Amino acid sequence: MALIKSLHARASELANSKAQVDFLSSGMFEKGGAQTFKEILDEHDQFPLKPGKLKIFQVNLGYMCNQTCKHCHVDAGPDRKEIMVKETMLQCIEVLKSNEIETLDLTGGAPEMNPNFKWFVETASQYVKEIIVRSNLTIIESNDTYRQLPEFFAKHKVRLISSLPFYNADKTDRQRGKGVFEKSIKALIKLNAVGYGKPETGLIIDLVYNPTGAFLPASQHSLRKEFKQVLKEEFDICFNQLFCITNLPISRFLDYLIETENYEDYMYKLIEAFNPMALEGVMCKNTISIDWTGQLFDCDFNQMLNITLDYNAPQSIGDFNIHKLNNRIIAVNQHCFGCTAGAGSSCQGSLL
Ligand code: SF4
Ligand code: SF4
Repeated sequence: MALIKSLHARASELANSKAQVDFLSSGMFEKGGAQTFKEILDEHDQFPLKPGKLKIFQVNLGYMCNQTCKHCHVDAGPDRKEIMVKETMLQCIEVLKSNEIETLDLTGGAPEMNPNFKWFVETASQYVKEIIVRSNLTIIESNDTYRQLPEFFAKHKVRLISSLPFYNADKTDRQRGKGVFEKSIKALIKLNAVGYGKPETGLIIDLVYNPTGAFLPASQHSLRKEFKQVLKEEFDICFNQLFCITNLPISRFLDYLIETENYEDYMYKLIEAFNPMALEGVMCKNTISIDWTGQLFDCDFNQMLNITLDYNAPQSIGDFNIHKLNNRIIAVNQHCFGCTAGAGSSCQGSLL
């Protein structure tokens, strides 16, 4: 009980990334004996963790978003002012021009809210095989500025990855805000109308499920079947894959775990479910994450926690060097257990 009280006392102090890292590293577990991620890597002869070939260049275009979801690890919302400027985008284009990187993955906030979003997609499409946009769907319905996005996405053959926490309004709205389910359905219907989710067009829209509480996601395979069936029967909507993502104990979700007195149990669940096979596919092995200022990180989660790259690696987009990045050591901490629990988790869903 004393521990829970101290967790509550600390919840309000975790607003900044350093406080979150200190908290995650402090091992505040009543049961004792919890392993650190480094120890478990060592046990499996995987420490230090090293990257493979760089395939995905994940750019965060800013933290502004039209939504304020409960579990957002970015702490995004309409009042966030951090936005990537065109000069930094040009530096990203230079990197894509001179290196063979297959995929540009655009995230945020709502990446579409960056005023140079369309220009960036049009320009970058000359240099990569695939562009992913992590669209929250409701942006399409938010105002006239964004209503033509489905046509724009289709024209540039953008692959969409979009969160839909569940196939009903109750669970979706509880996590993402009132009215989000209805707007998401309207957006999906418009995306289907321009060809998304239809095998003959090659236009891909994948949906993302993440649990609404302090538990691990169910099997991706069975949930996909359920989502496909209900969305088709009730709304005549089709989509490609369903990705199941584990919530990592960061930002608003960490705060939620502490507030609901679930932090300790959730961390134990992640640690006990550690799966060495998932380690092979963790996204930091083939991805580099770039924040709105152009700083480089091992992944989006490390970006949010401000866990910087190995000091021997280039730190910003202006110093990009693929050989040095391929030789870096990946910076890990306790939140990494979220990527290796059960079937594993990444921005592209389960790893196994
Ligand atoms: S989870 Fe996505 S849609 Fe929700 S607030 Fe965060 S960035 Fe916006
Ligand atoms: S949180 Fe980031 S650094 Fe840690 S295992 Fe996952 S992808 Fe890698």
